[in-house]
Amino acid sequence: MNSDCIFCKIASGEIPAELVYQNEEFVAFRDLNPQAPVHVLLIPRNHYPTVTDMEDPAVIGRAIQAAGEVAKKLNIDNDGFRLVINCRDNGGQTVYHMHVHILGGRFMTWPPG
Ligand code: 5GP
Ligand code: ZN
Repeated sequence: MNSDCIFCKIASGEIPAELVYQNEEFVAFRDLNPQAPVHVLLIPRNHYPTVTDMEDPAVIGRAIQAAGEVAKKLNIDNDGFRLVINCRDNGGQTVYHMHVHILGGRFMTWPPG
């Protein structure tokens, strides 16, 4: 737990969020500023600043798998959805606790902005 990190505080319950899924390793909650009808952030309970700090590929794999579980739970799995991990400045990362964006409920355009 990083005491300066807003997502660590959400994972511990210190800061409220609308949780949609959790297991022993990950927590998923609604984005405060949604960019799609469904916009959820999936975070590991452990603090990794960026995706490149996640040294164990098995944890990355389980994060993607858990994101798929969230999509199923929110009924966007059949129509389709998008997973996004922003990394550092050029990636548009603003919160330095690794998170997977799960976006759905509308058609996603390409390329992203
Ligand atoms: P990034 O730009 O780092 O990939 O995404 C950070 C995301 O976190 C943004 O979409 C932003 O709306 C969301 N966010 C930032 N602070 C909070 C918060 O306190 N609560 C929730 N639920 N979402 C947040
Ligand atoms: Zn954190």
